[in-house]
Amino acid sequence: MTVHTGRHFLQIPGPTNVPDRVLRAMDMPTLDHRGPEFAELGFAVLAASQRIFRTKQPVIIYPSSGTGAWEAAIVNTLAPGDKVLMAETGQFAVLWRGIADKFKLDVDFIPGDWRHGADIAAIEQRLVDDKAHKIKAVCVVHNETSTGCLTPPLEVRKALDRAGHPALLMVDTISGLGSMEYEHDAWGVDVSVAGSQKGLMLPPGLGFNAVSEKALAVAKANPGMRSYWDWQEIITFNKLGTFPYTPACNLLMGLNEALKMLEEEGHENVFARHRRHSRATRAAVKAWGLDTQCADAQAHSPALTGVVLPEGHDADQFRKTVLENFDMSLGTGLNKIKGKVFRIGHIGHFNDLMLMGTLAGVEMGLALANVPHRAGGVLAAMDVLKAREAAPITKV
Ligand code: PLP
Repeated sequence: MTVHTGRHFLQIPGPTNVPDRVLRAMDMPTLDHRGPEFAELGFAVLAASQRIFRTKQPVIIYPSSGTGAWEAAIVNTLAPGDKVLMAETGQFAVLWRGIADKFKLDVDFIPGDWRHGADIAAIEQRLVDDKAHKIKAVCVVHNETSTGCLTPPLEVRKALDRAGHPALLMVDTISGLGSMEYEHDAWGVDVSVAGSQKGLMLPPGLGFNAVSEKALAVAKANPGMRSYWDWQEIITFNKLGTFPYTPACNLLMGLNEALKMLEEEGHENVFARHRRHSRATRAAVKAWGLDTQCADAQAHSPALTGVVLPEGHDADQFRKTVLENFDMSLGTGLNKIKGKVFRIGHIGHFNDLMLMGTLAGVEMGLALANVPHRAGGVLAAMDVLKAREAAPITKV
């Protein structure tokens, strides 16, 4: 067995590195979730969650993974037989569609090549053609974590508006929230879905729904079966800073601290930092002579970069070489791009030197795994980082 020293490099696109401050905040005796101390915490995290989603509307926080928050979005607003429009941007779009199928929704799944965001023109055409307004919701993945491609929710909103279509807009921003601009209200999103273990820098275990007035009205009129996920009951309890069930108290303590950290750094600075690290990573990939999985220069994710290995080279074998030699976890390729792609997470609690370590590990791994490439990726990334553009240095 190899003994590794120093810190493990967790460079998958979630779960991400949890800051020591957040770990300390959670390392507390748990507390009476019906008592006054909890209510203070409850009010604080609900208000700060509204600020990160940029909404004045309710944010529902579940003790669940992101998948639970997907299910919540569906069961509150939709009923078996309802038609929904989804776009195949990658594995997470495929999984969301799978849940919709299980709830017997009638899914129109616009095909995609897993190298681009959702095809906005195709979405608009489907909406224009749907004269009877059978489509009840349009569901897109903001940051497709399996590929590193973005779909801009505002463009989907504009397509809905141009088509004059009343469908709800539901957005999975599970790996977007906290690492890139997100505007639940200004973008006219009806249900935003998020999770704790990505840009919010927490361990897995919290799921989020931000809901518009329109989505709440649809939910009120929806007689479909649900209990645990029901928004209305949670919102009623949240008015007193509490929850209808035992909440994940210590994760909420961590959430409070993580949201404070994001505000101390400044949301804009956090987003600029992610964009800069993404740009530096792409400079490295280009210098290595490799391709990014995202083929659209306008759609590169600030949170992660998918890297395509040359034909005949197994990305998981490469990842194994990196893990064994340098104690770094890189993200695996998922589903149909398994073995072809690995993913570098540059999301969450992260800085320039962590990125340099990450890219050095990748470059050394490429050499050790005999993957054809040019040296110099680390230097190319360094040039981007040295320029110190855009993001001011902030200490958190
Ligand atoms: N959607 C996206 C974009 C994701 O990245 C993930 C997880 O990585 C999920 C959904 C599923 O979330 P979870 O694994 O927390 O259930």
